[in-house]
Amino acid sequence: MKHVLVTGGAGYIGSHACKALAAAGYVPVTFDNLCTGWSDAVKFGPLEQGDLTDRAALDRVFAQYQPIAVMHFAALSQVGESMREPGMYWRNNVLGSLTLVEAAVAAGCLDFVFSSTCATYGDQDGVLLDETTPQHPINAYGASKRAVEDILANFGESHGLRSVIFRYFNVAGADPDGEVGEFHQPETHLIPLMLDAIDGKRPALTVFGTDYDTPDGTCVRDYVHVMDLVDAHVSGLKWLEDGKGSRVFNLGTGSGFSVLEVIDHSREVTNRDVPYETGDRRPGDCVKLVSGSTRAKAELGWTPHRSTLKTMITDAWRWHQNGHYDK
Ligand code: UDP
Repeated sequence: MKHVLVTGGAGYIGSHACKALAAAGYVPVTFDNLCTGWSDAVKFGPLEQGDLTDRAALDRVFAQYQPIAVMHFAALSQVGESMREPGMYWRNNVLGSLTLVEAAVAAGCLDFVFSSTCATYGDQDGVLLDETTPQHPINAYGASKRAVEDILANFGESHGLRSVIFRYFNVAGADPDGEVGEFHQPETHLIPLMLDAIDGKRPALTVFGTDYDTPDGTCVRDYVHVMDLVDAHVSGLKWLEDGKGSRVFNLGTGSGFSVLEVIDHSREVTNRDVPYETGDRRPGDCVKLVSGSTRAKAELGWTPHRSTLKTMITDAWRWHQNGHYDK
């Protein structure tokens, strides 16, 4: 049996990745401190509760399961919070990742798939972002992810670590079977907040900024379905298993949607009014983040077939109405 160590396997993207790994014949071993994750979301393999900065706990898990690879999702991921509490991001995301990389190398587990972000690019005057675009993060979240990319490159040179780095654009949607879904507490992401506002679980959504240099004045993002995203991770793992070596891939569709366009699509999908008001810009937000990349499609054979706004909102809405975690 091929075990894969999945950090953050109790979180939104990690739990979907565990499902995809199990479907592909791997055994996902979740390592998670449950600070934002849910033990209920760990359904496809064992859960080892622990913190990434706890080297002894990591050593025990590597020794017990002898994983063939690491998929590293565990991270703090809120732009706004990262601007208020940068220390949390450097400690958790950077120090935690460094400890994990050192433990993996010591255990001889040299294949590593890493969740990075388009926030590492920063604001680039509206250009489409591809993997060769220089990275100039404008918030502590992006900076912390960029630092981990550097760590992986350095350990590649010094210790032969092989890494597939995925720079995600905006991940949305949920498992269409309803086994796992998106459930953050507190929630800060646009689509789940909007669905909450639609069914009255929260007050009106606030649109952060309407004076950006975009067609309707609101920020533009490239949304990708979580199921498509995790499919790419399984392909990335196979890429490493095939000995193809370290590579960076953007995961986005190349289409950008403004906040107001997302609101319009949600109104159509749910057939309900979307209560919203306009507010100030959120510190750290980039104006436009859209992937110009075709690399994942060309090299991994990735086809993001669920990544239309309609399908993402439909799947998120189904989960929103039927799914939740208690613990
Ligand atoms: N956004 C918003 N109101 C909210 C949450 C988000 O207007 O309550 C906007 C945010 O400014 C950004 C987009 O929606 O332009 C996506 O934000 P999210 O937090 O979902 O993802 P991010 O782009 O920060 O990773």
